Amino acid sequence: MITIKDLTFWYSKQNKIFEKLNLELEAGHIYGLLGKNGAGKTTLLKLICGLSFPKSGTVAMDGLIPARRETGFLKDIFLVPEEISLPSLTPEKFADLYGGFYPAFDLAQFREILGKLEVETVQKFTGMSHGQKRKAMIAFALAANTRYLFLDEPTNGMDIPSKAAFRRMLAASFFEEKTIILSTHMVRDLESMIDSVIILENHRIILNQSVDQNLETFFNASINIPDKLSSYSEH
Ligand code: ADP
Repeated sequence: MITIKDLTFWYSKQNKIFEKLNLELEAGHIYGLLGKNGAGKTTLLKLICGLSFPKSGTVAMDGLIPARRETGFLKDIFLVPEEISLPSLTPEKFADLYGGFYPAFDLAQFREILGKLEVETVQKFTGMSHGQKRKAMIAFALAANTRYLFLDEPTNGMDIPSKAAFRRMLAASFFEEKTIILSTHMVRDLESMIDSVIILENHRIILNQSVDQNLETFFNASINIPDKLSSYSEH
């Protein structure tokens, strides 16, 4: 479980990103983290992964403090950032070198996902397009089978067949003890992938709710806060 209590964070004091933000995320769910550009989605993922530190308040994952970056914590989390930088290696070599950091990494699954996403296994990352690199990283992240997986704007730059393949691969790699957060500013891309929606706005969580019908129906039915929701459904 991820427990965030009274989290306050800023890069410059005049511009607070979060102010006393509270959030609890439970295992067995795929959360969609929505917010406009600049709302703080990436920052929140970094705070959860221990790459940024709270100014006040706490973030804990199963009782561990992310900022301490302990081995027991790192082997069970994976973050695919929006901007990806990869070494001059083929996906195969990359898996060979880095797969070992993740005890549940599955090489056959990695190859299968690369195939489904149409990524070459023998070409070096440096010769790949941005979209190909992102897909390769996502394939690795899914095959790492960590209990926590965070994907920042995962469908950015993906064509429609890749988005469909990604959706299927994400569902196929999900297991009961896993928690996934997908951040996006385009809610349509999350259709049939997520079971809960979190909306970030004005330094706080304005909605944290399960979605038991399709997203379109959910957004249309959420008449209490139509203005907030419509900004994310018009893409
Ligand atoms: P989102 O992912 O929702 O687009 P971000 O978390 O990237 O939002 O950014 C939230 C705000 O923090 C934005 O106003 C952004 O300009 C600012 N910001 C992000 N990273 C930094 C940084 N390293 N230094 C200063 N300001 C930053």
